[in-house]
Amino acid sequence: MALLVQKFGGTSVGDADRIRAVADHVRRCRRRGDSVVLVVSAMGKETDELLRLAGAVSSTHPGREMDMLITAGERKAIALVCMALHDLDIPADSFTGSQAGFLTDTTHRNAKILDVIPERVRETIDAGRVAVVAGAQGVSTDRNVTFLGRGGSDTTAVALAKALGADSCELYTDVSGVFTTDPRMVDSARKVQRISFDEMLEMTAVGCPKPAMRSVEVAQRFGVPLHVRSAFTWEPGTLVTKEDQIMEQAIVSAITPDTSEAKVTVSGVPDRPGVAAQVFRALADEAANVDMIVQNTSADGVTDISFTVPREDLANALVVCKAMGSEVGAVAVTADESIARVSVIGAGMKSNPGVAATMFETLAAAEINIQMISTSPIRISCVIAERDIERAVQVLHDAYELSTSTH
Ligand code: ADP
Ligand code: ASP
Ligand code: MG
Repeated sequence: MALLVQKFGGTSVGDADRIRAVADHVRRCRRRGDSVVLVVSAMGKETDELLRLAGAVSSTHPGREMDMLITAGERKAIALVCMALHDLDIPADSFTGSQAGFLTDTTHRNAKILDVIPERVRETIDAGRVAVVAGAQGVSTDRNVTFLGRGGSDTTAVALAKALGADSCELYTDVSGVFTTDPRMVDSARKVQRISFDEMLEMTAVGCPKPAMRSVEVAQRFGVPLHVRSAFTWEPGTLVTKEDQIMEQAIVSAITPDTSEAKVTVSGVPDRPGVAAQVFRALADEAANVDMIVQNTSADGVTDISFTVPREDLANALVVCKAMGSEVGAVAVTADESIARVSVIGAGMKSNPGVAATMFETLAAAEINIQMISTSPIRISCVIAERDIERAVQVLHDAYELSTSTH
């Protein structure tokens, strides 16, 4: 008998029919003899709707009340899922994050899990009942309700699987697994059978929404394999696992698009020690999450520095850069929101030359101009114009033959 932690995303519990389908799936698992613990997200777009409401009544968004509000979405969902289970004569109990033993720090809207002590969940399992746990929430060291952040339910599931010593952590969603690229963008995107934690982390770091990045970090740290799969077809999905459990690494596993960032350029800054330090310290102090950074070679003792930031941090970053720019004697600060980043990810590129050359040749042949480049041992990213992103993803997906390769 296996103990399974199964997490259901917003779409997977989006309406009454979907909730009944989840209950039915639990019945099938229990008939096979497995024990099931569920982690549930807020229904459909409920979290977005709660955030919209908060924006309509408040401009200050006090953290404590925001978390009280947002976590209500998951609380509603767990009660409904439990009721659907009861209807099938399956004994089940719902638990808020606090009741399930999730202790967090005090950072509202983005709390970090400090410990999970799932005593009540364990008692429920031992009594042969289904525990239904609210995702993305906990109680802080100062006894307030906290929200773990967007996508936090994936992290709840992984942390709970680890704390319970579960046999499997399954993340059910509206696609049948992790794909070679966003299936909404490329029709021939293909489901990957297995992918390493390192590759999955790189993908999520550059824009892949599934699974949430923090959940992959926690899964890797504690060696919890993830199974990303469909709550619609119930077919086997993608296993995210340690690299040594993958027989042969694909050279390129995925192409990831990201249109969530903007580019800032500080031009005409003096080329002397300490200038970059000053600019980026000031940005860090404002919590602007800077990513790709490029500094041009200097001409006549001045240079340009460009970097990317999440679009929601852009306004802040511009204020900081303009203030800093005048302090260090920069000529201008400009921003471009119409950019996108396209990334090629694959653990096999460590031992195979030519992946970068193919990427640049492919973009060149499609007449797509590269504005910035950054790399890690298993990733190459290019910043391009946003209008070119779909074409870039399509031609790169073809160039690396991702719709046909098998891995
Ligand atoms: P959930 O709400 O179930 O937690 P999300 O809605 O956050 O999940 O993420 C699932 C979505 O991610 C899918 O509908 C899919 O369109 C999108 N997606 C983008 N890139 C990929 C990819 N490489 N593999 C799988 N899904 C992807
Ligand atoms: N409902 C929250 C969100 O949409 C948390 C989660 O489900 O992961 O981000
Ligand atoms: Mg979703």
